[in-house]
Amino acid sequence: MKKIFMFVFAFGLIVSTTFSSQAIAADTVPGGPSTNGNTSMDSLITYENMIDTLKKIEHTSKGKVEVFTLDEYGKSEQERSIYAAKVGTGPIKVWVQAQIHGDEKLTTDAVLELLKTFGSSGSKEIKTILENTTIYAIPMNNPDGSIMNTRTTMLYDENGEPRLDNRERPITIDLNRDWAEGGFKAKESITTYKYWADVKPDYAIDLHHQGFKTVYGTNKSTSMSLGVSLAPNGPTLPGIKDGLYNDLTRQMSVYVYDALKDYGHMHIDRYQTGSGDKKYEIDIKGGVVSAMMLGLNYDNINPTHHSNPAIFFETKGNTRDGNLGQKSNGHLIKQNYLGLKYLISGIAAGEVQNVDPDRWEEIPAYPLAGYQSDSGIIPVSN
Ligand SMILES: [Zn+2]
Repeated sequence: MKKIFMFVFAFGLIVSTTFSSQAIAADTVPGGPSTNGNTSMDSLITYENMIDTLKKIEHTSKGKVEVFTLDEYGKSEQERSIYAAKVGTGPIKVWVQAQIHGDEKLTTDAVLELLKTFGSSGSKEIKTILENTTIYAIPMNNPDGSIMNTRTTMLYDENGEPRLDNRERPITIDLNRDWAEGGFKAKESITTYKYWADVKPDYAIDLHHQGFKTVYGTNKSTSMSLGVSLAPNGPTLPGIKDGLYNDLTRQMSVYVYDALKDYGHMHIDRYQTGSGDKKYEIDIKGGVVSAMMLGLNYDNINPTHHSNPAIFFETKGNTRDGNLGQKSNGHLIKQNYLGLKYLISGIAAGEVQNVDPDRWEEIPAYPLAGYQSDSGIIPVSN
C-alpha cells in the first residue's frame, strides 16, 4: 500500500494502470469516471503515509523544505501531532492548508506534491517563487478525522474517553466552523490558530472536496469550484479593510481560473451550495479562512487583529458520498497542485493584483438566490 503510494507519488500524478484491475467498472459521466458509489480507501493517503512522505521530501530537498510538528502549540484530540512544512525564503507569507475535513483526502496529496516539487526543482520559475514567498503548509489539519475517515473530529475527556452529549452520543466538531468566539472546542483548532497568529500570513489557500455538480449551462461535471467563505460582494466581505479582500479574493480566484481553464478535463466554476434552482454562496464566519479574513482575536491570541485574504478550492468527489474514483485521483491531485502553483506564482510576481476583480463574474456560476450565513439564508436582494 505504501509502496503503491510512493510509486504514484514518485512518477508524478498519473494514476497508473496498477489500479485498473481494482477499479470498479465505470460508467463514465461527463468530465470523469464514476465509481458507481464505491470508493476504495486502499489508494488514499493515510496519516502515516503523510509523515513518511514529508520526511522523504525534507531529506531530498537538502534543507529547502523544513518539516516539523505543531506540538509546541498543541496536538489533536486523540493526541496526534499536526505536521507542518515550510519552504521558501521570500517575504510574502503564503498559508496552504488541506484536509481540515478528514474525508477530503486528495487535498493532502496535492500539498505534498507542491512541497516535493518546490523542494527539488531547479527551474527558474520555482526559484523565483521561492525567493519571493515563504510557504507555510499544513497538509493534514485533521489527522483524527482522516484516520476515522470522517469530516469532523471527536472530543475526548481527560481520561481519553469520548465526550458525550446529553443523549449519550459522541460530540463531533467540524473544525472548519470552530474558529469563532464560542468555538475553539477542539484542540486542533487552538493549535493551528496559535500557529497562524504566530506566522501572520499574507495570503491563505484552503483545500476541500465537494460532491458532484455540473457547470451552469453545460453538462460538464465540475472538476473544481473556487470559493470564498465570506461571499464576494456579499453581506460581510466588502466591509473588511475597505473592500481590499473583496477585491483580492476575486483576483486570486480569477488568477486560478485563467491558469487552469484551458487544461484538459478541468471544468472550473464558482463554489455554491443548495440544490434545484436555489443556489447560494456561503458567508460563514466560523470557517477558518473566514476568521483569518475577519482578523479574529480569540482569547487575545491575535491581539494585533492580523488578517489575510483567503480562497478555497473544492475538488470533485467525496469519500463520504463514495464517489472518489481512483481513475481520476491523479488528475484531481494534479489540478489542485497546478492551482496552488499558479496562484502562488502570481502572488510571488505581484500579478494577482493586476487582475480585474470584476472578471470574477466570468467564472461560471448559477444565478444567485442568496447567501448561506451562520444564521440562515440572506436573500440576494438584501
Ligand atoms: Zn471540506
